Amino acid sequence: SAPRTQQSSVALRIRPLNDTELEEGATAIAHKVGDQMAVLMDPGEDPEDTLRAHRSREKAFIFDTVFDQHASQEDVYRATTQQLVEGVISGYNATVFAYGPSGAGKTHTMLGTDTEPGIYLRTLADLFQAIEESRDGADCRVSMSYLEIYNEVIRDLLNPASGFLELREDSRGSIQIAGITEVSTSHAQEIMQLLTKGTRQRTQEPTATHPTSSRSHAVLQVTVRQRRRGTDLAEEVHVGRLFLVDLAGSERASQTQNQGKRMKEGAHINRSLLALGNCINALSEKGSSRTQYVNFRDSKLTRLLKDALGGNSRTVMIAHISPASTSFEESRTTLLYAYRAKNIKTRVKRNLLNVSLRIAQYTDVISDLRREIERL
Ligand code: ADP
Ligand code: MG
Repeated sequence: SAPRTQQSSVALRIRPLNDTELEEGATAIAHKVGDQMAVLMDPGEDPEDTLRAHRSREKAFIFDTVFDQHASQEDVYRATTQQLVEGVISGYNATVFAYGPSGAGKTHTMLGTDTEPGIYLRTLADLFQAIEESRDGADCRVSMSYLEIYNEVIRDLLNPASGFLELREDSRGSIQIAGITEVSTSHAQEIMQLLTKGTRQRTQEPTATHPTSSRSHAVLQVTVRQRRRGTDLAEEVHVGRLFLVDLAGSERASQTQNQGKRMKEGAHINRSLLALGNCINALSEKGSSRTQYVNFRDSKLTRLLKDALGGNSRTVMIAHISPASTSFEESRTTLLYAYRAKNIKTRVKRNLLNVSLRIAQYTDVISDLRREIERL
């Protein structure tokens, strides 16, 4: 059998400043530097600071890939998700998460629009094409389900009238959702219509800071079942599963002055995002040999994703932030969470980069001073 591999990557997408932010006089404080670095500046301090103090207000974060306002939907798909498609056809599992506060661009990245479709449609289109071109494509069946997890309850977004759905473990120990709608069309326009309509069914309630904040996790589950002849000529079915997840807004309950119902939702969201962060963290730090210590039971989300997070799987997280000075606190916490989801190897790389960054800053200072001396 294939070797156990567990890989994860974390990308960051910084969206453009929007009209509301510009009207409020917000400035961009988050910037992409090179292909892998984002710099966040603390807007709270004295802008008349000296050069050195000014530099200490900047924090650099390294990711596998950083996208800014110039990145297209195609760029984001190619760099984060495209390479997962082959694996899913071979029977591996994979998960892509969109993480970040409300309004930061998660749904834009995952669903997108008719003219600028996101990861959902691009992944499915590549998947269908790869199957068509593959040698044993005729034996493949693709189906998809679209659901939300809201306050630890699962609803079918393709058939919201069906009520609450339950998670079941089948005889082989893999997780199934009892009674969920499975669609198997390969027609792009039809898929986009279904997903756009499904997304409108998501639980979206106003909070103090966002008029249409998503309070649920939306999960597009894509299943590829492939019939193969086993060694004894008996037929085996290989199942590869891909989860594309548009997470609930990560803003903290305290920041949005949420009370009562909103506060309960906030607690559920925080709990599942914390459970998710802990799972990814534990998996990437300890490697697949110790996945038994990861507590998937902590939330519905991690239970559903159990197979996809452990064992032979790949995990991609795309963190989202607004570049606006008015979103500093949210951006800071998002960068820290996403950063924590990375593995030790990357962390070591980052430390080295920080050192060279500092050297680069001193080089700047030295050449500035040199120029001043020359002028004297
Ligand atoms: P979220 O799902 O994180 O709450 P949305 O994806 O709904 O945020 O984005 C909020 C708004 O910003 C939407 O109107 C969306 O079209 C726009 N937007 C988000 N990201 C981008 C981007 N990269 N380029 C252009 N517009 C964007
Ligand atoms: Mg959204």
